[in-house]
Amino acid sequence: MIDELKKIKEEMQNLGIRKILVELPEGLKYYIKDIKEIFEGFDMEFSGENVYGSCDSCQECHVDAIIHIGHSAIPNMPLLKKTYFLEYFKNIQKYPDSNILRKKGCIKIGLFASVQYVNELNKLKEYFENEKFTVFIGIGDSRLKYPGQLLGCNFSSYDNIRSVDCNVVLTDGIFHPLGLSLYSGKKTFSLNPYSGELIEINNESFVRKRYALMERAMKCRNFGIIVSRKIGQSRNFIASKLRDMAIKGGKGGDIILMDEINSYKLENLPYDCFINTACPRVSIDDQENFKKIVLTVTEASYVLNGKIPERYFMDTIFYVDGSR
Ligand code: SF4
Repeated sequence: MIDELKKIKEEMQNLGIRKILVELPEGLKYYIKDIKEIFEGFDMEFSGENVYGSCDSCQECHVDAIIHIGHSAIPNMPLLKKTYFLEYFKNIQKYPDSNILRKKGCIKIGLFASVQYVNELNKLKEYFENEKFTVFIGIGDSRLKYPGQLLGCNFSSYDNIRSVDCNVVLTDGIFHPLGLSLYSGKKTFSLNPYSGELIEINNESFVRKRYALMERAMKCRNFGIIVSRKIGQSRNFIASKLRDMAIKGGKGGDIILMDEINSYKLENLPYDCFINTACPRVSIDDQENFKKIVLTVTEASYVLNGKIPERYFMDTIFYVDGSR
């Protein structure tokens, strides 16, 4: 990373860039001191916000350029500033026991990873092929930079490898495999890159909770429809449609602009239910902290239509306002 930062510095000097903003996720903020040393002489600002993805980049900030560390670029996201995306790749430490997959009837497998591990996918493919599996790595839509990459809001790397028996997701969290299991309807395993542990995802209790929430939301009269001010999460075009649906159905609906979504802000707003058109993970990961119901876009469309389907669908983001 240090070498890449030095190259960026050189380019910035050639371009006459003076004032820069550095965005780092929580786990990499300890690099601030090193980055400051490398960019000595520049007018620097560091983001103190939680930076969850490149969708969080502060493109309206008053700087000449942005260095965004830890996430890959979202290719179809509109950018207002010269922005350098610097990925932070990690290596797989231990390969899994492939018999676990064989016993579950997985012969053709799809491989996926969160961005930190996408550079390991080809090695992992080779490993499984040596173990006599047929392995696919799919290419996603224009919100994804790398083959096999998943975002918590985009699983389109699965779209052109739908014939697989099972999915394996190389990641250290649970959200990406959970989302893919619901998106694909296939057996999905998370593969821990450190321990090599393969865990089959069981999404039943998650789905039960979301159905219970949708049932309760059927009684809501007045919806606050949240639109993110973050450039890579902003979906005004969807929020307007949902507001129209609410009003047509005899309910209230207002569009609420927000940066960070938290319980305190929601409590003070005069709505009995919220629809979150920003990062779908917020509705899902944070619902237990919210005192009010916060639906995803797909959940809201069912509730406003008055019909909840038998299969649960994740909210996914393909485009945002101004997508190229
Ligand atoms: S919208 Fe959420 S899930 Fe999607 S890239 Fe941004 S932080 Fe990740």
